[in-house]
This record gives sequence, structure tokens and C-alpha cells, in this order.
Amino acid sequence: MRKALFLDRDDTIIRDPGYLSRVEQIEFFPGVLPRIAALRKKGFAVFIVTNQSGIGRGYFSEERLEEIHTALLDQMARQGALVDAINYCPLLPEDASNRRKPKPTMIFELAKEFDIDLPQSYFVGDKAVDIIAGQSAGCKTVLIAHKRNITEIPGLESCPLPDYIALTPEEALLYVLNDSDSKGENHNE
Ligand SMILES: [Mg+2]
Repeated sequence: MRKALFLDRDDTIIRDPGYLSRVEQIEFFPGVLPRIAALRKKGFAVFIVTNQSGIGRGYFSEERLEEIHTALLDQMARQGALVDAINYCPLLPEDASNRRKPKPTMIFELAKEFDIDLPQSYFVGDKAVDIIAGQSAGCKTVLIAHKRNITEIPGLESCPLPDYIALTPEEALLYVLNDSDSKGENHNE
């Protein structure tokens, strides 16, 4: 079994312009791609898990989303930040059959397909739904607060605190690098 880094997409690895619908809108946060590359070198599988209700709302097509994801993965791969898979839910929150976060469904699907050790894995995201999904799947969780006070983040009061709160995406990934390092040392003792 492999350990994994599960990443939210919007406001975690790329800036969220609000229902991103064009390839030209892709803008990575500073420092994120080298850290993902470093985690890959340490043996982590890397996944993106994203709610994309813009499709269900009719803002863009599933074909357009695939086009955006192909470009996203290509730009990441060029810097060594290879992604094993993207799992997304196109449905609306009110659609009873949705697999959207905060449900852990998309994480469980990936864990099964790629034989992932969830307690050794991390979920990194900027919203309470990311933390709740990660916790429900049994992963360690890291919240990216950006410039917000955590008491102002909707829904966060309804779940246990994440394992770590970072100010920026880069700091969140540095935490995962350091935390997984310290675990490796403990295993050797
Ligand atoms: Mg997000």
C-alpha cells in the first residue's frame, strides 16, 4: 500500500477565480509545484479531489473541464509534480446522488483503485468540506487559512480541528514533508 497526498484544487494548488472555466485562468500558488514534486520523490501518490458543480449549474461542460484538467496536469508534470488521478463530482449540492466533499466517497474510490494507506495519507484543502472529507476517510488533514481567521471559516466549527493550519499552500505542503519525515524516523527507531 502507498501513502497519498490528496489535494483540493481551487484555492489549494491554483487560485480560484470563481467557477474556473478557461485554461488561461490556471494560476498556481508559489512554491506548490516543487513541494508536490518532493513529496512524489518520497513515494507519495498524488491526487486532486474537487467539487465541480459548475458543470451541474451549466456554467461549463464536462468536455471543457477535461480540457482544463489536461492542461493543468501537463503544466504540473513539466515541473515534476506528477498527479496520479483527478477525481471530481460535477453534481449540485442538492443532488442526492452526489459524491461531493464533505463526503469521503471520492477519496475512498481512489484509495481502492490505487491501493492507498489512508491513515498514512494527508488531505490538504482550504475549506471545511475538505477537512471533513479527509477526517471521514481517516487521513491527516491540513487546512490552508490564507488570510482568514479560522473562526471565520464556515463549517469548521462542526468538525475536529485539522492536524495543522497553514497560512499558505506552500506552508501546508512543507508541513506534510516534515511530518512524514519525522514519522519515517520513528519507524526506524
Ligand atoms: Mg478549495
